[in-house]
Amino acid sequence: MAWSKPEPEYADEVVWQCTECICWSRQEFVSELKPHCSICGAKMIEQTRNIRIK
Ligand SMILES: [Zn+2]
Repeated sequence: MAWSKPEPEYADEVVWQCTECICWSRQEFVSELKPHCSICGAKMIEQTRNIRIK
């Protein structure tokens, strides 16, 4: 029996998405209540995104 490659897993997760650029971060890495983009300084909004979790 051959080993099967582990398949990457994706899930819909709520992330912080910058309103001005493509930058986004996972909520678990953001401690601020209303974070601002680390790249351009614009405000960020909560958005659901299908991201790779494994
Ligand atoms: Zn930005």
